[in-house]
Amino acid sequence: MNFYPKKRRKPGPSKNDEKVQRARQAEAQTRAAGTLATRLPGLARLEVRLTFKAANGVILAEDGLTLAAGDSFQLDADCPGACGVGRFDFAPALAEAISRGQDSGAVELACREPLYGGGGAPCACAARAEFSVRRA
Ligand SMILES: [Zn+2]
Repeated sequence: MNFYPKKRRKPGPSKNDEKVQRARQAEAQTRAAGTLATRLPGLARLEVRLTFKAANGVILAEDGLTLAAGDSFQLDADCPGACGVGRFDFAPALAEAISRGQDSGAVELACREPLYGGGGAPCACAARAEFSVRRA
């Protein structure tokens, strides 16, 4: 009789395959995102200032980024809140505001991930992206 569980090889792809796969996915995402120039023609520069606030109003993180016309239109950030898994993607909201003709303004997103150990309550971390553009 054998009381020990059979040793199994770890299923799935090898570490190296995973690395290659991840690199391919990142590349595909970059391609799908396009550049600032292809997504929002006529823009020379996009400046974004990010502020992340917890549900109680405490500022958790601040960040800033600038995209030039040829830069990949990727504007996402990890949620610094207590959920530990949330991700904000500002690209759709910013693209919409700018394509409506706004040269500056702000968009706000809230994290909807459930809070770790929060009994189903959402993380509710809020991210504000203040933007300004320079047209070509
Ligand atoms: Zn979150």
